[in-house]
Amino acid sequence: MGQLAKFEIPESRDRMLDRSMEAMDRSDLLAYQEQRLPEALAYVESHSPFFAETWKAAGLRADEVSSLADFCERVPFVDKDTIRAYRGDRRDSLGGLRRMEHVATLSSSTGTTGDPLVLPSGYGYGPTDGGGLARDWWEIGVRPGDAVAFMLFTFRGAAWLTAHALGASCALFDHHPAEFARWSRASVELQPTLLYLLSGPLIMAMAYMEEAGLLSCDLTEVFASYRGVVIGGEPLGARARADLERWGGEPFLHTAVGDVGSATECREHDGLHLSEDSMFVEILDPQGTEPVREGDVGELVATTLVPRSANPLIRFRSEDLVRASTAPCRCGRTGMRLWPVGRKGDEVVVDGRSILPMDVWQIVEAVPESTAGYFQIVRTGRSMPQLKVRVGFDPGETGRAAVAVRADLTETIASVLGIAAPDIELVDNEVLLRQGPPHKIPRVVSS
Ligand SMILES: [Zn+2]
Repeated sequence: MGQLAKFEIPESRDRMLDRSMEAMDRSDLLAYQEQRLPEALAYVESHSPFFAETWKAAGLRADEVSSLADFCERVPFVDKDTIRAYRGDRRDSLGGLRRMEHVATLSSSTGTTGDPLVLPSGYGYGPTDGGGLARDWWEIGVRPGDAVAFMLFTFRGAAWLTAHALGASCALFDHHPAEFARWSRASVELQPTLLYLLSGPLIMAMAYMEEAGLLSCDLTEVFASYRGVVIGGEPLGARARADLERWGGEPFLHTAVGDVGSATECREHDGLHLSEDSMFVEILDPQGTEPVREGDVGELVATTLVPRSANPLIRFRSEDLVRASTAPCRCGRTGMRLWPVGRKGDEVVVDGRSILPMDVWQIVEAVPESTAGYFQIVRTGRSMPQLKVRVGFDPGETGRAAVAVRADLTETIASVLGIAAPDIELVDNEVLLRQGPPHKIPRVVSS
């Protein structure tokens, strides 16, 4: 099967699929990005009515941008709202990002924070466009001739092209507990080396079904062939991680990069690698336009350098808050690594303390009755006089009365976060799970 691969497959022991790109010196990498930029902008200007119009209104022509410095100074930002506004005004389901005749696959954002956006990818797939995911899978251990199990949420385009590009095959499953029996059987029979992907809620469902005796296979046998399990959606809670590791699955955290690409952990598990040869990423002040100091939390702003095949987004403010590093990783890769910390609209300030869902998460899952880590911050505005949290609760864990659980959560959250006593509302786990898309629940809701 290897001869079908679109990439030049290196020696199997090499942990990099494309060493010349993945370990490129950073100054060469910046020069490479600068060289690709004009062609990318010219393509977008002529193929994306939304960007053509946005740039024209800003008095900008693509051919006036010849360096990354020009780009950062002159190219306007866009975000989900500006694209949604274009979609509404023009009744253009693609938001003007691309014309339908140039679309190869249609996928969508997940819609956790509002109406999902359609993301139209174009034709063309090879080593120079969209190779990032293939590199991630190679690092995890997928090799030509392997099978990969897909369990994707929402409609995510032709992601199986990644398996084909590596000369691997794929078996497709829905991201839903109803698929567990079929997936378990296929895992034992086909011995896939990668599961792309699982999420916290799906792992919790698997653990529940295991405990209730609803699974026909032993999960340690099901996971035995997998070299890695890619984790998408939201951060992996401690309990879900422990369950997955107990079954023998090694989790690799994975995130979208401004909907132009993705980033995945390497086997060092020290940050999520992205492929800077196919995207230009800026980490900017969430409330402004200046870059933050490396290592500080900032908003990820993404530009594709391969708009012909990827979603054609230029200077897209993702609202994702991340820390980033350009220091080389222990694996030898030199590209930027990310540590996602939350969403821009999710931050609340209580008693002068900035609080993100991730800060509340570990506290909630440390209490036995809420160990599933299901909770929601009920937000009345960025600044709130009192933190309000809705917590999913399972009294069956210990038999403690709700009033005692609430007191426990109130006291721990107040003392760990250094704020006045929060308002805790206990609800059944199901109430929160029903609000999802299947792979995550909204961690912040407006009251
Ligand atoms: Zn690494």
